[in-house]
Amino acid sequence: MRGVKCPEDRWAWVEVDLDALRQNTAALKRLLARDKQMMCVVKADAYGHGAVQCAKAMRRAGADQFAVATTTEGVELREAGVREPILILSEPPMEAIQKIVDYDLSPAVFDQDFALALGECAAAAGKVATYHFAIDTGMTRIGVNWRDAVKVRRSIDFHRGIECAGTFTHFATADVQRDWDFNMQARRFTDAVYAMQDAGLETGLVHCANTPATILHPDVHMDMCRVGIGLYGLHPAIETRREVRLRPVMSVRGRITRVEHPEVGTGVSYGLTYRVPKPNIQICTVPIGYADGLSRNLSGNMDVLVNGERCRQVGRICMDQFMFEVTVNNVRAYRPTRAVEYGDVVTVLGYDGDEMITADDMAARRETINYEVVCDFGLRLQKIYV
Ligand SMILES: *Cc1c(COP(=O)(O)O)cnc(C)c1O
Repeated sequence: MRGVKCPEDRWAWVEVDLDALRQNTAALKRLLARDKQMMCVVKADAYGHGAVQCAKAMRRAGADQFAVATTTEGVELREAGVREPILILSEPPMEAIQKIVDYDLSPAVFDQDFALALGECAAAAGKVATYHFAIDTGMTRIGVNWRDAVKVRRSIDFHRGIECAGTFTHFATADVQRDWDFNMQARRFTDAVYAMQDAGLETGLVHCANTPATILHPDVHMDMCRVGIGLYGLHPAIETRREVRLRPVMSVRGRITRVEHPEVGTGVSYGLTYRVPKPNIQICTVPIGYADGLSRNLSGNMDVLVNGERCRQVGRICMDQFMFEVTVNNVRAYRPTRAVEYGDVVTVLGYDGDEMITADDMAARRETINYEVVCDFGLRLQKIYV
């Protein structure tokens, strides 16, 4: 692989394809009717892709609002010049309220004491703080129980320092089609929203759809969709693949820092769990490890791509490095593998020539989901935007 951009201080990086990100954003926005808003979820540093750069790219491709998980994540966006509304998807501790007010962030709210403290702080600053009212319709994570929505709202609505900008819930099973629990949650949510409207309470924007619901359940788009994983080109379920074309945004690459031709029987990495089984094997080192998000559970159970070919990772993955093997002069191979060299680019995730390693493939090997795979690579690797 030639002409790749690479950091100067370490031969390991995450490549973020902003074109793909913009295309995915636009493709998801096209699923929404014209009068609906799209809230782009950039929590956890945009699922490991870099929140500031991603938010700026999404903004031009159709993002109306952003969502984060923590106050600190919201502050980072504001300090980078993001002016759109920013929702914090959970209710932060009381101690965060001053920052929330200072930076005009909108927290999720479900506790009366929190709501009133937010109102007091905003009023003292001569502001009105906006919040989104969180309703628990069956996931049992955050929010007011759907039966108590009106009661809790009535207990806070007298305060002039707060204003409800949105009402939302979150689905536990939006990735399943024709699911009884999903329908139950949707019904409880609409019941709660109608009850609030009947009681004369302002709901603000009503929203509940994450990526799978946005793609599979247009009937719950309501006023706004909250899309996350799809923006990054990953599908939350098999069923969503048919409905929209998405391009993976993240690739993970490194360069070979050492090439050895060890004798047969030589061990590799901690525990020497792998020993060179035959002659003509190169053992190559790449400076990416589990502290970079490459799970140690993948040891001996993953491939990498070099010069467009698949090679087997061998030995235990270390904190900052791993090794892989290349069989050279393999006369029986359909296409003899060329020996690799110091500095060659190694792809851990993404394309190289016709070969590709996907986050779904890696997730299956780790017994997790593609969400965790990309979040993990956001840990330490430098990001290169292309
Ligand atoms: C993370 C999150 C989302 C986005 O979910 P995706 O499946 O990535 O689209 C939406 N809403 C809430 C409340 C979330 O926590």
